[in-house]
Amino acid sequence: MKFKKSQKLYEKGLKNLVGAVNSPVRAFSSVGGNPLFIKKAKGTKITDVDGNEYVDLVLSYGPMILGHRHKKVQKGVDKALKKGYSFGASTEAEIKLAKIVCDAFPGMDKVRFVNSGTEAVLSAVRLARAFTGKDKIIKFSGCYHGHQDSLLVAAGSGLATLSMPGSKGVPEGAVKNTLIANYNDLDSVKAHFKKHKDIAGVIIEPIAGNMGVVIPENNFLVELKAYLETQGALLIADEVMTGFRSKFGGAQELLGVEADITCLGKVIGGGFPVGAYGAREEIMQEVAPLGGMYQAGTLSGNPIAMAGGIATLTELKKQDPYKKFEEIGSIIEVILLETAKKYNVALTVNRFGSMLNPFFVNSEVTNFVEAQLSDTKKFAVFFWEMIKNGVFLPPSQFEAWFLSSALSDKDIKIIAEAVDKAMEKVSKM
Ligand SMILES: *Cc1c(COP(=O)(O)O)cnc(C)c1O
Repeated sequence: MKFKKSQKLYEKGLKNLVGAVNSPVRAFSSVGGNPLFIKKAKGTKITDVDGNEYVDLVLSYGPMILGHRHKKVQKGVDKALKKGYSFGASTEAEIKLAKIVCDAFPGMDKVRFVNSGTEAVLSAVRLARAFTGKDKIIKFSGCYHGHQDSLLVAAGSGLATLSMPGSKGVPEGAVKNTLIANYNDLDSVKAHFKKHKDIAGVIIEPIAGNMGVVIPENNFLVELKAYLETQGALLIADEVMTGFRSKFGGAQELLGVEADITCLGKVIGGGFPVGAYGAREEIMQEVAPLGGMYQAGTLSGNPIAMAGGIATLTELKKQDPYKKFEEIGSIIEVILLETAKKYNVALTVNRFGSMLNPFFVNSEVTNFVEAQLSDTKKFAVFFWEMIKNGVFLPPSQFEAWFLSSALSDKDIKIIAEAVDKAMEKVSKM
């Protein structure tokens, strides 16, 4: 397999782009080598500029849940493109997507569209503060909520991959109202409430995907929500990754919790830049123009992005692939575990529906500390062997792999063969 053209573009890209990438997770710093440049994608496959074809388990970090360029989505977007790109005024498409989203999440009476997950979360945090009149926010170590200043502490994948404790350029003042708790540890949340009176809410990835996949234990979320109610604090569910992926109604539907504020992104744009935050009526009343919390966006509710979202969610609802995700997900999980056993490689696989990833460690992974015990050198070898055998994975131990509803038995066979080669190579380290 040759990467000559990718290599050339990488060198060219270095001149005017930072590290030749526009998001650091796309850099190959933790696996070595240089990033691949992509030419096109269709269905379950993605093709790089050298013509190498891969089964894509990155799926743009989640949005391409139907696979690439699904014909219904293509049709919806093509139709919208012919009418204009952006108006700075309202369109019917926004109302349509809002209805789909609010119908799926019972805790959302109203929604506001923005342009990314980061924007959704930073607005949701502002809203929690506006509604409660309190300043402090608790986040969990290893959860990532976008790159806004106040939540860029103990923030999982991108930072863990680069071994950065937080980020330069974030002033102390910006994080002084951020408190850190441990995932799956309600006592660590309670300890903060005992110490601080002005906690507006707790933000969580209801199924964590940014420290690798980490699953909430037993009734963790239900108990967390019940506890927060006793404290007059809000639960902010960051479902940017899990919304419409773990279930049509997100992790909340699956786990039987209703958050006060929900953040969405990724899948709701079907590959176009869309984020959203929403809540019950009484909370959303705070948002301008109804209330005093200001939040705006020139391209928010962009008609092309809305068309991509409407087409994706409509098709997703029709396909209802969640049972299929569970089946394929468990097949891939078993492939990973059995192959690791065959080659005597220590491996733990965390999976929730269509999000999964292996950790090269023989102990269970229930939080960020345990995730970091994984042998990232083994992951790097595994990663490159998967690439060479036609499977595109996120270039980091701490990113989830994503499945699309387009995956076929043939794709699974390719994955199984690649896993065999990759595990064998890891066993020889
Ligand atoms: C991806 C992600 C974000 C950030 O979304 P962007 O669109 O990259 O800004 C926030 N929260 C979670 C849980 C995510 O997975």
